[in-house]
Amino acid sequence: DGSWQPTFQDVTVALDPGHGGSSTGAQYNGIRESDLNLSIAREAADALRAHGIHVVLTRNGDEELSLYRRTALAAEAGADLFISIHCNASDTDPEAAGIYTAYHPDVRGSWSLADTLQGALVAATGAADTGSWSRPNLAVLRTAKMPAALVECGYMSTPEELERLLQPDYQKQLSLGIAQGILSYLGGADGGF
Ligand code: ZN
Repeated sequence: DGSWQPTFQDVTVALDPGHGGSSTGAQYNGIRESDLNLSIAREAADALRAHGIHVVLTRNGDEELSLYRRTALAAEAGADLFISIHCNASDTDPEAAGIYTAYHPDVRGSWSLADTLQGALVAATGAADTGSWSRPNLAVLRTAKMPAALVECGYMSTPEELERLLQPDYQKQLSLGIAQGILSYLGGADGGF
């Protein structure tokens, strides 16, 4: 009847909470980036599972994991997409603000995934849009065998941004933004899924 709806039962998404273990990532006011990343990733995983998507988390605790192990785990799980979740920090700009998404220019589908995620995250949060950027030097993006993106959810180094990142409601908005971006990407991708 023409009301075709994409279904996602056969889709596997790898979510990668950045850092973990002794690699805490950014740290401000005793808040560890690794904990924020995990919290956002877990909630995004729940949101995707509610849509029938199979989700693997590269870590689901405070574990140390090499960058190569992260994309290897995604490949072993047969993941169709890989999304690494981080929070940002600036040494130089005390008022740095906003969300940005990184991709590797040579990993097929990654630009489109990053751009779609970026749009959905900004729409869900109202955060400043600092764009999607080619970052060919990031190992987790370079070694991905599937479309991959790395989202930077906000600046822990800016007090107002850190305060927002700590709020459960704001974490939920970020998580739903990530999930919505993935769903939009999957819905818009022609073939391959
Ligand atoms: Zn990070």
